[in-house]
Amino acid sequence: MAGKVYIIGAGPGDPELITVKGKRLIEEADLILYTDSLVNEELVANPKPGAVVEKSAGLTLEEIVARMVEVAEAGGSVARVHTGDPAVYGAILEQIVHLNEAGIEWEIVPGVSSVFAAAAVLGAELTVPELTQTLILTRAEGRTPVPEGEKLADLAKHGATIALFLSATLMEKVVSELREAGWSDDTPVAVVQRATWPDQIILRSTVGEVAGEMKRLGIRSHAMVLAGKALDESLQWSHEHKSKLYDKSFAHRYRRAVKETGLPGGSSEGETAATADHPPADGVKTAVRGEL
Ligand code: SAH
Repeated sequence: MAGKVYIIGAGPGDPELITVKGKRLIEEADLILYTDSLVNEELVANPKPGAVVEKSAGLTLEEIVARMVEVAEAGGSVARVHTGDPAVYGAILEQIVHLNEAGIEWEIVPGVSSVFAAAAVLGAELTVPELTQTLILTRAEGRTPVPEGEKLADLAKHGATIALFLSATLMEKVVSELREAGWSDDTPVAVVQRATWPDQIILRSTVGEVAGEMKRLGIRSHAMVLAGKALDESLQWSHEHKSKLYDKSFAHRYRRAVKETGLPGGSSEGETAATADHPPADGVKTAVRGEL
């Protein structure tokens, strides 16, 4: 029986932030190949007896693929463990191409990306109603070029929340592109280095200050930079930005609107708000089925 390669997201660092499935597949694997210093070694500390556990940082793509193919062809199970979620800056496509060529079955198991781990430790919602409903995941252009049309100065014109991976050493360039896009110097920027690790560092700053502050703190790697109006910490104490989801005058699939009298329009958990049996009251906005 042919084996299989599981490309597994390990999460950002905290070993409890891996999926139940990812953890199980690592513990059942015959070969565990994990990437660099950002995968917590606790996650690979309980291999099944006889399993091989190896770091991939020192290996070439060809060596990595050769090891995975060898084990899978012999009927074994491989856990290829990547930091965060494998789909962002995971360099998994090049491995997938080789696995396909070798006729090896593979499957991706998602993980908690550092962008969401950073948002969590900051206590931030990245899509704040009326401020922004969009999140851009990108990186500053350094040695790795970004395609035309994806320059930070262009992306930033949207005013959306921007998450910057792999950009800690390029912050002066980041700041000048944000300014070029019209961002003011007091726009909030938050940086989380080694999010969810015991030595995590959180920096709350602004477009005007962030580059200098990161330099002073020596933050040059393993850092997630989140920028935009949604990162304003004072939003956590403001009632200004509410979603329609819990707005009492706004009915949706799981709740009927509260009528002008203030009395609930009736209990309808799990029902479509406006049905033939329960027409919406006059003047009550009714959402169509779907997400708000
Ligand atoms: N697939 C990963 C990203 C890999 S690229 C993910 O989903 O998170 C590596 C970059 O990810 C780093 O340069 C940094 O920007 C970010 N990163 C990864 N782990 C991080 C962590 N624990 N804290 C902050 N940033 C992290």
